[in-house]
Amino acid sequence: MITAEAVIDLAALKHNIKVLSMHQPHSKMIAVVKGNAYGHGGSHVAHALSSFVDSFAVARFDEACQLREYGITQPIVLLEGCFDQTETQEAARLGFQPVVQNDQQIHWLEQLDGQYRINLWLKVDTGMHRLGFHLEQVRSRHQHLCKLPVMDQYVGFVSHLSCADESGNIQTDRQLQRFNHVTEGLVGPRSLANSAALLTRPDICFDKARPGIALYGVTPFAGHCGEENGLKAVMTLRSKLIAIRTHQCGEPVGYSGLWHASRETMIGVVAMGYGDGYPRTMPTGTPIQVNGRIVPLVGRVSMDMLTVDLGPDASDHIGDEVILWGPTNPVEPIAERVGTIGYELLIQLTNRVKRSYINGCS
Ligand SMILES: *Cc1c(COP(=O)(O)O)cnc(C)c1O
Repeated sequence: MITAEAVIDLAALKHNIKVLSMHQPHSKMIAVVKGNAYGHGGSHVAHALSSFVDSFAVARFDEACQLREYGITQPIVLLEGCFDQTETQEAARLGFQPVVQNDQQIHWLEQLDGQYRINLWLKVDTGMHRLGFHLEQVRSRHQHLCKLPVMDQYVGFVSHLSCADESGNIQTDRQLQRFNHVTEGLVGPRSLANSAALLTRPDICFDKARPGIALYGVTPFAGHCGEENGLKAVMTLRSKLIAIRTHQCGEPVGYSGLWHASRETMIGVVAMGYGDGYPRTMPTGTPIQVNGRIVPLVGRVSMDMLTVDLGPDASDHIGDEVILWGPTNPVEPIAERVGTIGYELLIQLTNRVKRSYINGCS
């Protein structure tokens, strides 16, 4: 029997990319599929999106290689660029588009033998202060990269927003102004928007937008859900009831006896635990869906199991479906209960969770 399973709705994924494209009809889409497509499965997601997007973006060289192995032929942007000379050589051969964010990476590009041409993205530090060239370096580096013999069609400009998920934060306007100012008059495509900017700031979208989390139907905005932006949750994390037990009033359940029943009830045991990536810190009261109704998580989440209070009148059965999160039990407020964001819960699911794909042909 399959227990812990992440069901990925490819029709919802396509719905989301269409919604995002409608938001910014003049921007091409670079679908961000780093981290195994935020835990959804890189190859399936990339194939489902390939006819809707201009290119893909990943964080690590190996992630890009995997997409090529899976038959993805579109450009693949390396968001932090190449980390050594070998990766740089291979990136050119495999048609990757590295971001160039430091002078060492320029040096590796200078060493290429020129057999292959390469498109590049110059990273501008407009205020994140994590990666990228300082504003006063941008012009000279861009000119230099444009003259490299290996340069193919363009050296584009990228920058990353630090506060776009906080509506009204003036940092976004500051970063936008700096980006506009420093790239003024220079030739090359521009890309600034992440999901948050794509959903709220048409003035930021430029030639190519880089949505990640919104593709998966999850909002980047704290206190909200993807549904409010017309997005559909792509992942349903589900499992099964593997035991149903009568439980006396006052008895504890699980490690440390954290929770005690205040009445006689039925406890459901679910095959899902921190070994699957469901956080151990998830507190009593977290909503879990069993046979269409919401019941509370009770007691400590253990490695392979968690327990729910099914209520005294429960008529559930072993093998019944349990939904930890999904379209009918959104991940965003669940993530907030453990002080994190949907991104982290999605990406931290372990290999023990089976990925399955539905609605692939719609
Ligand atoms: C991850 C990432 C994105 C996507 O961000 P979302 O908030 O998931 O839309 C865009 N650009 C860069 C550079 C990234 O690292």
